[in-house]
Amino acid sequence: MTLGWRHPFDALGTEFYSSVNPTALSNVHWVAKNHALARAWGWPDDAFDDHLLNVLSGNAVAKGSQPCASVYSGHQFGVWAGQLGDGRALSLGVIDTPLGAQEIQLKGAGKTPYSRMGDGRAVLRSSIREFLCSEAMHGLRIPTTRALALVGSPDRVLREDIETAAVVTRVAPSFLRFGHLQHFAANGEIKALKSLVDFLIDTQFPHLNQVEDGPSRYTALLADITRLTAVMLAKWQAVGFCHGVMNTDNMSLLGLTIDYGPFQFLDGFDPAHICNHSDHQGRYAYARQPQIAYWNLFCLGQALLPLIEDQDKALQALETYQSLYPALADREFAVKLGLTLAGADDHVLIESLLKVLATEKTDFTIFWRRLSHAVAHLQSLGPTKAFEPVKDLFIDGTAWLAWLPRYLHRLEGTDTEQAGLLMLATNPKYVLRNHLGEEAIAQAKIGNFALVDDLLQVLSSPFDEHPRFEHLAGFAPDWASSISISCSS
Ligand code: AMP
Ligand code: MG
Repeated sequence: MTLGWRHPFDALGTEFYSSVNPTALSNVHWVAKNHALARAWGWPDDAFDDHLLNVLSGNAVAKGSQPCASVYSGHQFGVWAGQLGDGRALSLGVIDTPLGAQEIQLKGAGKTPYSRMGDGRAVLRSSIREFLCSEAMHGLRIPTTRALALVGSPDRVLREDIETAAVVTRVAPSFLRFGHLQHFAANGEIKALKSLVDFLIDTQFPHLNQVEDGPSRYTALLADITRLTAVMLAKWQAVGFCHGVMNTDNMSLLGLTIDYGPFQFLDGFDPAHICNHSDHQGRYAYARQPQIAYWNLFCLGQALLPLIEDQDKALQALETYQSLYPALADREFAVKLGLTLAGADDHVLIESLLKVLATEKTDFTIFWRRLSHAVAHLQSLGPTKAFEPVKDLFIDGTAWLAWLPRYLHRLEGTDTEQAGLLMLATNPKYVLRNHLGEEAIAQAKIGNFALVDDLLQVLSSPFDEHPRFEHLAGFAPDWASSISISCSS
C-alpha cells in the first residue's frame, strides 16, 4: 500500500519544525490495530502488514514521508515553562482520507531537537491508555485526536521503574496546540506568529478567509477556538472525564482532546476529584476544568494579541465562553436526562441532581445508565418499580427520593419511551475506567493483548449493550481507588 504523503508544514519555514527521522526499536510487534479507522479510510483488510509495522514503529520511513517535529512552548500548572516540545512526537506527514486530510504522528519514536532532557520514548503502560482513550472518546462522540495503531518493543525505558517502549500512531487533522502560538508570541517573533496563524486558518479554518484580512479575522479565529473549546469541555464534564494535565501545550487549537496522560473517567461522582497524582493543588480537579479551559484561552488570547491589536476585541471573543460554556453544559446534561426541549428550570434540576450524586459519590456512569433504563420502562413498570435499580445505588436514598418527583414532574407530557431511547444513546454503558486500563496493561506486559482488543471493541460503541462484555461495565473494584496515575509516561 502506498500513501500520498505531504509535508505537514510545507508552507512554513524551518523555524517551525525540524526534520528528524525516528530512532529504531528492536523486535517490534503489534499491540493493537485500529481496523475500524483503517476501514473508514478505505484501507484494505491486510493493511497492517510488516511494512506498516516498520513504518509505525519508526524502523522505516515510508516513501514520500518526511518526518519532522514541531516546536511549542506553554504554561505548566499555571506557570510559564518556555519551550516544551515536541520532544517525542514525530509527524510523518499528511495523507488524504475519506475523513479529510489527516496528519499522522508517532509518539515515542525517539528524540527530537526539542526533547530537552527526555529520551523521546513512551512506555507501553501510558501508550495503551492513550490508544484506548483516544478511541473511547471518539466512541463517545467527543472531539479527539485518534489512534491508528500501537506497537511495542522489548527495549527498556527508564521511568520510576524499568519499563518497555511503545509507539502510538496518532491521527488528527492537525496537532497544533495553544502552545505553538504561545511559543512565537513569547519570543516576540510576530512575523513567524502571523505565518503560523495564517497557515492554521488556511488549513483548518478556511471559512475565516471570508472575514476581512487583518485583526477581524484573528479575532474571529479566537472566537472560533473559544467556542470549540467550550463544546469540548461541556462534553468532558457530561461523561465525567478528567483530563489531568490541562497545561496550555495540551490544548488543541481545533478543540480536540489531546495528550492522554493521567486522565480518568470518574467512578463515584466527586466534583473535587483529582486524577493526576502529581497535581498536589488540585488545579485540574474535575469541577475546575471548565474554568481552567477559560484560563488557557486567555493565554491563547494573549498570544494572539499582537495580531488582534485591540485588547477589548480579544476580551470580547474570550468572554463568550462565560455564557456559552454553561449553556452547552446544561444542554449536555439535559439530554442525559432525556430532555430535548430546554426548560427554564433545567439548570436548577441538573445542579440539584449533581449535589445528590456528590453526597454519596454515586457511580457516575452506572447512575446515568440505570436512569436511562428507568425512563425507558417508566410507562410499562410505573415509577416505583422502574426507578428501583436507581434507588439501589444510594445507601441513604433520602436526597434521591426528594429529587425524583421534581424530575417526574418535568417529564410530564414527554414520551418517556422515546426519551429513554435517547438517554440510552447518550449515557454510555462503557467508559475506560482506570481499573480496566490497569488490567489491560498488566496483561499486555506479559504479552496478552486480548483485553486491549476487547476494550477497543466496546469503547468504540459504548452505547451498545455488548452482552459478552458485561464484566467491563461494572463498578470499580475496591483496589481501583488505590491506583496512582502520575505524569510519568
Ligand atoms: P506533558 O506534560 O506530558 O504534556 O509533557 C510536556 C512535553 O514534554 C511534551 O509535549 C513533550 O514534548 C515533552 N516530553 C515528555 N516526555 C518526554 C520524553 N520522554 N522525551 C522527550 N520529551 C518528552
Ligand atoms: Mg503534552
